Amino acid sequence: MSCYKGKYHDELIANATYIGTPGKGILAADESTGTIGKRLASINTENNESNRRALRELLFTTPGAMECLSGVILYEETLYQSTADGKPFVQVLKEGGALPGIKVDKGTVELAGTNGETTTQGLDGLGQRCQKYYEAGARFAKWRAVLKIGPNEPSQLAINENANGLARYAIICQENGLVPIVEPEILVDGPHNIDKCAEVTERVLAACYKALNDHHVLLEGTLLKPNMVTPGSDAKKVSPEVVAEYTVRALQRTMPAAVPAVVFLSGGQSEEEATVNLNAMNKLKGKKPWSLTFSFGRALQQSTLKAWGGKAENIQKAQAAFLTRCKANSEATLGTYKGNANLADGAAESLHVKDYKY
Ligand code: 13P
Repeated sequence: MSCYKGKYHDELIANATYIGTPGKGILAADESTGTIGKRLASINTENNESNRRALRELLFTTPGAMECLSGVILYEETLYQSTADGKPFVQVLKEGGALPGIKVDKGTVELAGTNGETTTQGLDGLGQRCQKYYEAGARFAKWRAVLKIGPNEPSQLAINENANGLARYAIICQENGLVPIVEPEILVDGPHNIDKCAEVTERVLAACYKALNDHHVLLEGTLLKPNMVTPGSDAKKVSPEVVAEYTVRALQRTMPAAVPAVVFLSGGQSEEEATVNLNAMNKLKGKKPWSLTFSFGRALQQSTLKAWGGKAENIQKAQAAFLTRCKANSEATLGTYKGNANLADGAAESLHVKDYKY
């Protein structure tokens, strides 16, 4: 049996290709209720439905932002919410030209006998949930697998288990009309150098594409959401040009040209750092048969959150901060970012949290 040829075949390819349009990228606004609570706590704002909805409305209705976005990843609650005026968020996004996406994993659990390594849950009933989300307007999905670098990590068990989980998730999504974002995040935590990160990233990506192939996933109808290849959080930083060279080389070695786009996660980099690293990759000469864009969570929202502070009177200021980051990242997908986004409060601040849970 070859790869998926079912009824969504053409639609999956069209949507994955659209999401990868150069000049555009994804806003990851799919923080679970617990995670968004931590963000809201950082601005002394209560984690209730009304504040979560207000934050998402602020983001999705920022004038000009949608021109820089081809997709927005939502948490289930948000998929069914509306603006204060009663317009469903899904409709707001569609009118703005951004496809609605949905986080479908159910978080991680520890793999017994390992040094704190994990696997991601959520396969049970996934087909039915995907069907329901498709009916509600979602057209792509996200599943976050997490790996870590340590003296003996990632273990072969963790690599195999997570690659297989991602592949099983991916084909279930495709059978139900959702483009799967394949996200094997290798955490930045640790003192390792960039060579170690490159070696692990290549090993993990190679295993993922083997599993995707084994599970008959239609690669043209998928997207990859990897970490950038960088030194660990406790090691000395390197320049954006070095990050670009290592990251693009890791992808060249492991990622099939059939996949339309790479949508990087920001992984705790500051807003500006994530933007300049993405820009350097798009400036780099060499073989790049996929578009290189973004699917940032923290690196698109930090200065916006700070400017908002949970107060209605700050919405305009917060939207200006969000538009600044959207435009900067849009330019970075074209390699034309000049580093001139006025650095709002928080834009240069590291967003790294050890052992981050999404
Ligand atoms: P960050 O950009 O904050 O790493 O998050 C992206 C994401 O969706 C992680 O799953």
